[in-house]
Amino acid sequence: MNQTTPQSDSAIVIIGSGLAGYTVAREIRKLDKAAPITLITREPGYFYSKPMLSTALASKKEAMQLVSTAADGMTTQLEMTILSECNVSEINAGTQTIKTSKGDLPYGKLVMALGADQIRLPLQGSAANEVITVNDLEDYARFRTAIEGKKKVAILGAGLIGCEFANDLVLGGYEVDVIDLAPQALGRLLPEAAALELQGKLSAAGVRWHLDTTVNAIDHKGDSLQVTLKNGSTINCDVFLSAVGLKPRIELAKATGINVGTGIQVNRELETNIKNIFAIGDCAEVDGLVLPYVMPIMQAARALAPTLLGQATALTYPAMPVMVKTPALPTIVSPPAKGAEGKWTTTPVEGGLEARFESADGKLLGFALMGTATAQRGALTKELPAMLA
Ligand SMILES: Cc1cc2nc3c(=O)[nH]c(=O)nc-3n(C[C@H](O)[C@H](O)[C@H](O)COP(=O)(O)OP(=O)(O)OC[C@H]3O[C@@H](n4cnc5c(N)ncnc54)[C@H](O)[C@@H]3O)c2cc1C
Repeated sequence: MNQTTPQSDSAIVIIGSGLAGYTVAREIRKLDKAAPITLITREPGYFYSKPMLSTALASKKEAMQLVSTAADGMTTQLEMTILSECNVSEINAGTQTIKTSKGDLPYGKLVMALGADQIRLPLQGSAANEVITVNDLEDYARFRTAIEGKKKVAILGAGLIGCEFANDLVLGGYEVDVIDLAPQALGRLLPEAAALELQGKLSAAGVRWHLDTTVNAIDHKGDSLQVTLKNGSTINCDVFLSAVGLKPRIELAKATGINVGTGIQVNRELETNIKNIFAIGDCAEVDGLVLPYVMPIMQAARALAPTLLGQATALTYPAMPVMVKTPALPTIVSPPAKGAEGKWTTTPVEGGLEARFESADGKLLGFALMGTATAQRGALTKELPAMLA
C-alpha cells in the first residue's frame, strides 16, 4: 500500500466516508485517542453535509462549497489513516482481510458504512440514459453543470428528496414538474390532508404536479427532452432528475456470506452474523429497520464506538422526527411504525397544520407538523414511543 496503514489485529477499519463512517471515527476518538483507525472510501474523502444537497441552490452554494473539511483535514482532526479513491472489492472473513484497489488490508474490527444507491427505474426512450440521480457530492456537481443555463427540470419522485429538490429548484428560478405513481406527495410520510397542504404551497411556489402516473419514456426533442407519462400527457424539460428511493448497498456483505434483507442485517450491537464485522448508516438494517436519516446514524455511532473498543453497547432509538426542508411549508414528520394501528386526525392551525396519528386508546404514535405547528415538535416528540427501546 502506498500509505501507512496499521497492521495490528486491533485495527478498526471503516469502509465509507459518509456521515456514518466519519461519525463512528469521531465517536471512537472521543473515547480513545490512540486506537488505530483506517477509513477507506472510493470518494475523495472530504466531509460534507449531504442534506444540504437539496437546499444548496437557494442558499447559493456550489457543490464544492458544501465541503466543510478535506480528507487531509479529517486525517489530522481524527488522527487516523484515510485511503481515498480506494474501492473495497472483497472481504475475507476467515483471514480478517479486505481486498482494496490499493492492496490488501487486515482488520481487527470492520465497519461497513457503505451507504445506499439511488434506485433507477428502467425507462424507455432515446434519452433514458440521461436520467440524473443525486446521492453524493459528485452527482450533485454533475447535476449543477447539467442545469446551468437551463430552465426546466422534471423530477420523478414526490418523496422527501424529490419535494426538497422541487422547492430548491423553483427558488432558484427553474420551472419544475414532479411526477409520482402515488396519488399524493410524501406518500410514505404524510396523511393525505397534510400532503395536500404541502402540494398547495409548492404549487403556489411554481411546482406542477403529475400524480397517480409514471413515466413511460424520455426522448430527445430538439435541444430538450420530452417525457411521456403513462396517463398519455407529455412534459418538456431540459433535465430529468430521478428521486424514487434508495437501495442499501448490500452486495459486498452478501458476497461475504453476511445476512442481508433490505439492508445489511445487524443486531442491536450493530454486528452482522459474522464476528467482528459491523454495519451502520444507510446500508444497515437494525431489527428490521432501515432508516436512511441523520439522527439514526448519530445514535448508532454513539453505540457502535464503545462496542468497537470492547464495551458492548446496545443501540436504542428514541422517536426521531425528520425535517422536510421545503421552505414553501416547513414540515416535520414522525411517521407511525410500520403496521401501527390507529388513525390520523388533521387540525388546521393559524399558518400551519397539525396531524396526529393516535391509537384507539389515544396514544400518540406519529405526527406531521407544518408551518407554525412545527413549534410543537419538542412537546409531541416527548409523547412518542421509542423506535427501538
Ligand atoms: C439530497 C438529500 C437530502 C437529505 N436530507 C436529509 C435531511 O434533511 N435529514 C436527514 O436526516 N437525512 C437526510 N438525508 C439522508 C442522509 O443524508 C443520509 O442518511 C446520510 O448522509 C447517509 O450517510 P452514510 O454514511 O450512511 O452513506 P453515504 O453518505 O452514502 O456514504 C457511503 C460511503 O461509502 C463509500 N463506499 C461504498 N461502497 C464502497 C466500497 N466498496 N469501497 C469503498 N468505499 C465505498 C462511499 O464512497 C461513501 O463514502 C438526505 C439525503 C439526500 C441524498
